[in-house]
Amino acid sequence: MKLTLKTPAALLFLSLFLAASCAAEGRWREEFALGTICRLRIFQAAPERVYRAVFTRLREIEAVLSANLETSDVEKVNRNAGIAPVAVRPELRKTLDRALWYAEHTADSSGQAAFDPTIGPLVKLWDIGGGAQRVPSDEEIAAARALVDWREVEMDSARGTVYLRRPGMRLDLGAIAKGYAADEAAALLKREGISRALIDLGGNIYALGERSEGKPFQIGLQDPDEMRGAYIGVIAASDVSVVTSGDYERFFERDGVRYHHILSPKTGFPVRSPFRSVTITARRSIDADALSTAVFALGVERGSALIASLDGAGSVFVLENLSIIVND
Ligand code: FAD
Ligand code: MG
Repeated sequence: MKLTLKTPAALLFLSLFLAASCAAEGRWREEFALGTICRLRIFQAAPERVYRAVFTRLREIEAVLSANLETSDVEKVNRNAGIAPVAVRPELRKTLDRALWYAEHTADSSGQAAFDPTIGPLVKLWDIGGGAQRVPSDEEIAAARALVDWREVEMDSARGTVYLRRPGMRLDLGAIAKGYAADEAAALLKREGISRALIDLGGNIYALGERSEGKPFQIGLQDPDEMRGAYIGVIAASDVSVVTSGDYERFFERDGVRYHHILSPKTGFPVRSPFRSVTITARRSIDADALSTAVFALGVERGSALIASLDGAGSVFVLENLSIIVND
């Protein structure tokens, strides 16, 4: 991975440069989907149909994987927790399968995972970034925490069903679904003969090919303490996904404490992480997305070991004191 760090004096220039260079090249289309702003930029001639097809695909994926839509497959599985297995579409089977892999590989010796796709009861309870965010009582947290356990998920691949064994359990794929969606968008573009494009799903980025011959895309690395669009560095990217998880995107503050949206199945509270942000580069966006969240929760040592176990994955850690560790 090629990462260029910027001195404070160069920051403003860099932000302006990225903004200007984005505007100068590539036709783009932007829509709200997957709970965020999604932007597709194609750096070669492409018919309008291709742009439309990508956003249609993103909406199809949202319709299956959203934990906020009554009609999604995820919500059907959640409503049937403790009742019956539910036949689900391939989008959910594939994403959940990968999510369970991450659960298994972030589990401690007792089997409790740092990354757990059954985190739903805690996500609902805290509602961080939603309309009802608050610090729940200890009793509420204990009750929600007792329902988080990836080992209670049954996937029957022959039947194509998913079953949560205990009533009240809830899937939440918010930590991995945008990555899956970015991979699907990239695959669709490739099938349409597109070889230069930037897919940005609310900061979950996939760089398809190069921006132009010999020139990789330049992906800005957000400064956790500054306004959106202020960068601490730039990653040169081609045919790679770049995804960041941090404590500064979705959070609220009460009595001087910052409550961010990556929750610990062990404590039921936001994880106490040594990081301000974790950026992952990986060939597949589903891995970059899941890894960024998982590593944020695991910390430096266990997180680095997990990254090292994945072929071709790299990382940039921004620590509490804003020092930076790069692994490639
Ligand atoms: P990441 O670090 O990638 O993930 C953090 C998210 O993962 C948390 O928000 C939580 O959902 C989940 N999580 C927390 N702790 C853990 C853990 N220990 N293990 C595993 N997962 C964990 N937002 C809205 O406000 N309204 C919507 O209607 C809406 N719909 C969405 C539909 C889809 C299909 C998707 C993918 C997202 C949607 N979102 C929506 C956004 C979603 O709620 C999350 O905020 C978002 O996915 C977080 O992504 P991130 O990249 O910021 O953080
Ligand atoms: Mg993630």
